Amino acid sequence: MAKKKVVLNFPPHLIDQPVTYRLITEQGVRVNILRARITPKEWGNMVVELNGKKARLEDGLAFLRELGVEVEHLAEEVKWREELCIHCTACLAPCPTKALYVERPNMTVGFDREKCIACELCLNVCPYGAVEIAIEQ
Ligand code: SF4
Ligand code: SF4
Repeated sequence: MAKKKVVLNFPPHLIDQPVTYRLITEQGVRVNILRARITPKEWGNMVVELNGKKARLEDGLAFLRELGVEVEHLAEEVKWREELCIHCTACLAPCPTKALYVERPNMTVGFDREKCIACELCLNVCPYGAVEIAIEQ
């Protein structure tokens, strides 16, 4: 089994179509929706984790692209380096899942790895390089 985190960008004409349902039922890919922003008649996007056999995932992504869905790959994991963090809190607002949060009563920044969806929104915000993409060894 393999898994991939991707952002799916849906053009307006696909917003009310059962695209993820077809991905599951026709392509045999398990879809875990981590975040979704869908507005009628506008581009919508979803951050999803796809699970399935490697070939199924590739076929599923090709299926989406053929339909007109734009697919962006996300890093598998983001690492928070506590030793570099100065707890300035600049990364808290862009983090959509509250994986970066303030610990009370110390008011220091903490990182909940389980909540992180590797969207990378915090990477460009941190002035000290305390969040980075984890490189697999
Ligand atoms: S990558 Fe950064 S902004 Fe995105 S969920 Fe993880 S900690 Fe939050
Ligand atoms: S932006 Fe960087 S230095 Fe500031 S709290 Fe977040 S991880 Fe720490």
